[in-house]
Amino acid sequence: MNPILEIRQLHKSYAGQPALRGVDFSVNRGQIISVLGPSGCGKSTLLQLIAGLQQPDGGEIRLRGEAVSTATRLVPPEKRGINMVFQDYALWPHMSVYDNIAYGLKRKRSSSSDIRANVEELLRLLHLEPLAGRLPAQLSGGQQQRVAIARALATQPDLLLLDEPMSNLDMRLRIEMRTELSYLLRKLGTTVFHVTHDPEEAFAMADRLVIMRNGGIDQIDSPEACYREPATASVASLLGAGNRLAGLVDGEQAGPAIRTEGAVVRGRTAACWSGRQSAGPAIALFRPDAAAWETEGAHADGALAAAEVAASAEPDAPAAPLNAAAFNRLSARIAHSAFEGNRWRVLAELAGGEMLSLFHHEPLRAGTRGQLRVPVDETYLYPAAAVSER
Ligand code: ADP
Repeated sequence: MNPILEIRQLHKSYAGQPALRGVDFSVNRGQIISVLGPSGCGKSTLLQLIAGLQQPDGGEIRLRGEAVSTATRLVPPEKRGINMVFQDYALWPHMSVYDNIAYGLKRKRSSSSDIRANVEELLRLLHLEPLAGRLPAQLSGGQQQRVAIARALATQPDLLLLDEPMSNLDMRLRIEMRTELSYLLRKLGTTVFHVTHDPEEAFAMADRLVIMRNGGIDQIDSPEACYREPATASVASLLGAGNRLAGLVDGEQAGPAIRTEGAVVRGRTAACWSGRQSAGPAIALFRPDAAAWETEGAHADGALAAAEVAASAEPDAPAAPLNAAAFNRLSARIAHSAFEGNRWRVLAELAGGEMLSLFHHEPLRAGTRGQLRVPVDETYLYPAAAVSER
C-alpha cells in the first residue's frame, strides 16, 4: 500500500537546540496514528512541520508521494489537503455552528446543495443537529470540540491532524469523546495524525502508536504491542510500569535477570538488553496491576497446601498448577492503603526502602508483612543506561 504521508530523517532545531533528531515513519491511507510522548519530546514540532506551519532543517515530508517540506521547499498549509483541529478549537466566533462547518466547502465553491447535504450529514454524525443555529460562545467545551471536528472533516481532507483534541474537556467527557471519535473516524475511513501526552487517549484512538522521547522515536507499533513489549524503559514507565527496582545484571540465572539488594528479579527483555554485561547496572519495571499480595503465613496457603498434598499423595501426578518459577517474589511490609472506589491502591515497602504500588480488593493494615508476587512475564528488564539517556 502506498503511504499517504512519509516522514524521512526529519530534523528541526530551535536556536541550536534539537527538537527533532531524525524522525522517520510513514502513514497509510485510512490509518489512525497517535504520537505519544511526554511534554517537550517534539510532538507539536512534528505536527507543525506536517501542517506546513514550520520548515525542517533537514530531511523531508512527502504527502501523496510529493515532497512538501524540505530545508529548501515549503508547500503552504492550504495547498496540502490537510485539516487540523487545534487544542483551543479556533472556531469562528461570529459564525453559527452550521456556518462554521460549511465554511471550507463554501471556500472550495462547492454547490449549495452539496454544502447543505454535507453539513447536515456531519451535524447528524456528531450529534449537533439541535445546535446548528448557535454561536460558539453558546456551546459547552465538548460541543465546541465536536464542531471543530465536523468543520475539519467537511472538506474531506486527505489527512486530519489532531493536536491534543481532548485536552480542554473534563475527564468523563474525554473518555466518552475519544471512543466516539475513534469510531466515527474509522467509519469515515479518515487518515489521522493525532498527537497526545495521554496514553489512554492514544490507546483509544490509534491503529499504530509512535512513541517519542527527546526528539526521537522509541517505538512504533500497535498499542497492544507497545503495552506488552515496551521497547525502552521510558516507554514502559509512560505506559504505566511505575514500579522500579534497581540492581545489577545477574548472568548466573537461566534467563535474563537482575540481582537487587534483596532478591533475584527475572523478566522480559527488549532489543536494548542484548549484549548486556553481567554485573552492569539494570532496572526492573512492572505495573501495579501486575502485582498480587500474599500476607505472610496467611497467604493462599489453602491452595498451596492442597496442591502440595495432591502432589505428595500421587508422585506421578503432573506438577501443581501453581508454577512458582514464573513469578518474582519480593518480601515487603505494607506502608499504606488508599481507597480508589473499586479497589485499594497499596504502598508496600521493601527492606531497602523502595516503595512499590499494587492494587488489592481490600485495605491492608500498615506493618503487615508478606510478599509481592509479580509474573516474570509482566516484569520488564532494561539496562540502566537506557534510563539516564532521558
Ligand atoms: P511537545 O509538543 O512534545 O510538548 P514541542 O515540539 O512543543 O514538544 O517542543 C520540543 C522542544 O522544542 C522543547 O524543548 C521546546 O521547548 C522546544 N520548542 C518548541 N517550540 C519552540 C519555539 N517556537 N522556540 C524555541 N523552542 C521551541
